[in-house]
Amino acid sequence: MSKLSDFIAQRLVNFLPNELTTQELSQLLSPRQHPMLLSQRRSMMIVNRVRFFAMLFTLLTPLWGVIDIIVFEPSVWIKLALLRLVTTAAFAALSIYYRSNGSLFDAYRAITLLFLIPTLFYIASHSLLSGYDLSNLSAAVASGYAFLPFLLMAGLAIFPLSLAESILLSSTLLIAQCLAGYLSWSTLNWPSFAGGLWLLILIAGVTMLASASQLAFMITLIRQAIHDPLTGILSRGSGKEIINMQWAGAKRNNQPMALAFIDLDHFKEVNDSFGHEAGDTTLRQFSAALSKNLRDSDSLLRWGGEEFLIVMPSTNLDQALSALQRIQKAGFGSRPDGVPLTASIGLAERIADGLHDSEQLLALADNRMYQAKQAGRNRICAT
Ligand code: GH3
Ligand code: MG
Ligand code: MG
Repeated sequence: MSKLSDFIAQRLVNFLPNELTTQELSQLLSPRQHPMLLSQRRSMMIVNRVRFFAMLFTLLTPLWGVIDIIVFEPSVWIKLALLRLVTTAAFAALSIYYRSNGSLFDAYRAITLLFLIPTLFYIASHSLLSGYDLSNLSAAVASGYAFLPFLLMAGLAIFPLSLAESILLSSTLLIAQCLAGYLSWSTLNWPSFAGGLWLLILIAGVTMLASASQLAFMITLIRQAIHDPLTGILSRGSGKEIINMQWAGAKRNNQPMALAFIDLDHFKEVNDSFGHEAGDTTLRQFSAALSKNLRDSDSLLRWGGEEFLIVMPSTNLDQALSALQRIQKAGFGSRPDGVPLTASIGLAERIADGLHDSEQLLALADNRMYQAKQAGRNRICAT
């Protein structure tokens, strides 16, 4: 049984872009284990797409009203026009005023609003039209209103979503569709309603696949963008983002935040004696040794050639110092000739050092690293 599921999992992995790891595969199922930068960028992307679509609907909703005027008698189209006016205003507000601060909650709320507006419009117009005896052309247009749920369901495909999120959103749409059916119970054409519901479920399935594959691409691209290709740890650009985010969080919750600046001692010698290739291997082993000894909440990043940072949220100066001493004791790996690598480390902390922004934190840690060098290398400077 497990062999069969392994086999199926293996087949599935083959369809996914560039070797998603097992851990990344589980990120396709739910957003719970998404790395912070993935969540943040995904949230921004979702909100931007919501705003784009809200803008599109701001233009399309009143345009469609022209058809109402041609087809329906005034008593009907005037009511519809009022509905459209409110709907257009809601779309315009969403497109213009909605801003993301990068939290997932923002993204969910944006999608909910984008879908809620036309759903309410749909339910309102549907129950309005079902009260009239529409014949011929009018009936054809009235049934055009019933396309909206399909459009919404297909529209889900534009978002990079995990399976859990897709299921939640699409079942909401299905429930809304059933609710609309219930509201027009007396005039409901059962075969066409059942057929429509079935089609909606099929579209939901296709949409889920589209959203999941968007997410898979996003996971791969972000992994490549935020990691340093040599060592596989976080690169400088994403490191800056992490420092800023952690700083904002620490400040908001009045928590300490420590930063260690690490520079390898006499690294040029390694290159000069053993070649650049051996130097690269040494750097890889160094970062592997270091990340093994870090807490999950800590981030290790490569700041430059042989310079690294450790970001330690919710860690005061004493705790950070003893963590670094423990790491130093465990060792940084060794040079190709077996001589242990040493490093000079500067440590700074938000509260203990009374700092006002993340640049100051970085500058102070950098400064103390130079002090450690000047004091003879292979040491930690925290004051
Ligand atoms: P110290 O910091 O103790 O003063 O001495 P150092 O020799 O480490 O000093 P410095 O910072 O001047 O030199 C850093 C060297 O690191 C320069 C370069 O040869 C090496 N280096 C930087 N990036 C890489 C890299 O990606 N691969 C390899 N192999 N070497 C690198
Ligand atoms: Mg250096
Ligand atoms: Mg150095």
